[in-house]
Amino acid sequence: MLTRAGTLEPPVNMPATIDVVMFATGPGAPDAEQKLADLLRSLHDYPVIALTMKADEQRGIAAVEAGAAAYICIDDVSADEQESIIEHAVRRHLLQRRLSDTDVTVLSVLRNINDGVIVADRAGRILDINPAARSILGLGARWQPDSDWEQTFCCIDGNGASVRNSAALPLVRARNGEKFSNHTAIYRAPEQPDMWLSINGQGLYDGKRELIGGLITFRDTTDATRQTNALKKQAQFDELTGLPNRNAFSAHLQRAIGRSQRKSTPLAVLFIDFDRFKSVNDTLGHDTGDAVLCEVANRLQNNLRVGDFSARWGGDEFVVCLEDFDELGNAAAAAQKLVLVLSEKYALRRSEVYATPSIGIAISPDSGTEAERLVKAADIAMFEAKKRGGGRFQYYSSTLNTKLAQREELEIGLRHALVRNEFLLHYQPRIDIASGRLIGLEALLRWQHPRFGLLPPGRFLPILESSGLIHSAGDWVIENACRQLAAWQRQFELPDLSMAINISPAQLMHARLIDCVADAIANSTLDPGCIELEIGDGDIVRKRSAEIETLRGLRKLGIRLSLDHFGIGDVSFASLDNGFIDSFVLDHSLIEDVADNQSHQRIIRAAIAMAQGLDIEVAAEGVETLSQLEFLKSCNCDLAQGFLISRPMQADKVSAILRSEIAGTRLLTRGMP
Ligand code: C2E
Ligand code: MG
Repeated sequence: MLTRAGTLEPPVNMPATIDVVMFATGPGAPDAEQKLADLLRSLHDYPVIALTMKADEQRGIAAVEAGAAAYICIDDVSADEQESIIEHAVRRHLLQRRLSDTDVTVLSVLRNINDGVIVADRAGRILDINPAARSILGLGARWQPDSDWEQTFCCIDGNGASVRNSAALPLVRARNGEKFSNHTAIYRAPEQPDMWLSINGQGLYDGKRELIGGLITFRDTTDATRQTNALKKQAQFDELTGLPNRNAFSAHLQRAIGRSQRKSTPLAVLFIDFDRFKSVNDTLGHDTGDAVLCEVANRLQNNLRVGDFSARWGGDEFVVCLEDFDELGNAAAAAQKLVLVLSEKYALRRSEVYATPSIGIAISPDSGTEAERLVKAADIAMFEAKKRGGGRFQYYSSTLNTKLAQREELEIGLRHALVRNEFLLHYQPRIDIASGRLIGLEALLRWQHPRFGLLPPGRFLPILESSGLIHSAGDWVIENACRQLAAWQRQFELPDLSMAINISPAQLMHARLIDCVADAIANSTLDPGCIELEIGDGDIVRKRSAEIETLRGLRKLGIRLSLDHFGIGDVSFASLDNGFIDSFVLDHSLIEDVADNQSHQRIIRAAIAMAQGLDIEVAAEGVETLSQLEFLKSCNCDLAQGFLISRPMQADKVSAILRSEIAGTRLLTRGMP
């Protein structure tokens, strides 16, 4: 059974002669495995090669698994193959004999684990590929690597770049003595899908600590990597348009600013926003709006130079970073081109849409050297372009610079406004038009700014909303308005006195609004029917979304919901058709010129008639003249609010008015029709 195979002519770099032991594996006895192990142990001074027949190849494999250096199917091997197997076995044996005791143990443990293990000598020749490695990589039991396999194995790094012929190859790193872990690389083989491997590596040393090779262990992480990549992609790309998103843009921009500073070349940020885009969504539906945004993304990509970077900032806002241009005029030329291209007809399957963009341009370094500041500057310039009629571009300028500086100061100040007690509420009375009685108040937020004085919400609300501070500020408003209403109801014995509280769309995105309102009602022991939340974005009421869930929760509490700014822009009749809304507030722009504007008169009449049909209450805001009030009365409008009746005022002034209200003195004593 045991054959001494005589001496083999050694390959270069090997001792002059070396004995090789070959043995033929016979049909297995019950204790064959143990015998094989004992045999191999007793022969550990020799490279041992198992000989078998092709039909019994499994025995050869078992022998290798038990510690033999190789196996040969004697009825299925060419002379060349045989030679290469023996040479390989000898090399492996020699390396193993030189290994330090520690590395011998490491190797024997590793060879039998579920991770793939590959051992290479100092010259990069592969000496061992364990069964797990063969199985992971899809290599047959007899497959032998050719001489440059080390250079092709995992020669694509985790980012898809080739590292062929470089010191970054995992096997090269290991045999150079580098210890590493979690090296991600792609294993590519013909007719096999790419596979991601997570690889650990280390050098192998002899007893004198001399480096004699290296080994890597690895496992297949393809599934996990795919999942991570998908998540990474989600975090970097906008789902609808496939363009990079705000995060990706900010990161890209910061790097681009660094490059432009090093090269001393300017860089431009373009902020693009579509004029009246909401009306596309409102009139043609969200699907059409989405289709337009996808086409915008296409047009941006097709009309920018290679190297320019575009992204979707959010909603109908897009941003572009232009690098490497010599004259500032080039940014204007690019912006003008985009104005034209993006204003062209959007021919969709079922409709044709026209949308015009307004574009703000900010140049670095003049307008800033920080990504966030540059985008803000471009955003402010975009607003200026809109103010000038839209469908145009506008450079960020030094006048706008003051605005940006102020905005930044406000933003920083707002972060502390709550804790510093700088917010306060003003209240504006609302009357019942038929009786002239004060029936409720609208709470209006004010900010007592330490430097700029008393600020109306128009100055800081957008910053509260964009910074996310609206949630805590909004909670504060609800809490305080409810507490004040409860105090007035008790003090003046007016249990029906109501309070309208404005809500930003962002607040409706979170269920915390429901908790906040519930707490405020409970703490003040108010009848929930006295609280009316005013929603400025009627579109929300129509959407099937998180906001609807919040509205449902709020209604369950028993409070009233109202649509603010009714009759303009995004608030439409369809918003009223689902039983959520108890009342709406006619926008002051409709009231403003109602005396002369017959179209507004018709809209108001129709809106009130419809509301009566749906049992919805109607309030009119911005009532400044008696003729406006007379007109509203003639249409049977329920409630009115405006400077004619009273300006918004502090709580103590409201107390005085309520006192006179009980005394029977109406707010509108003069010439009330
Ligand atoms: P709104 O809800 O339409 O509030 C009415 C606004 O019109 C108030 O402006 C009020 O001062 C003003 N106003 C009242 N009567 C007249 C009038 O006769 N003529 C004119 N020209 N204006 C009149 P204000 O206080 O500056 O508030 C502006 C907007 O800010 C509010 O519009 C509301 O949408 C929002 N807002 C106010 N407070 C809050 C708040 O606590 N939270 C949220 N999310 N928004 C608020
Ligand atoms: Mg309001």
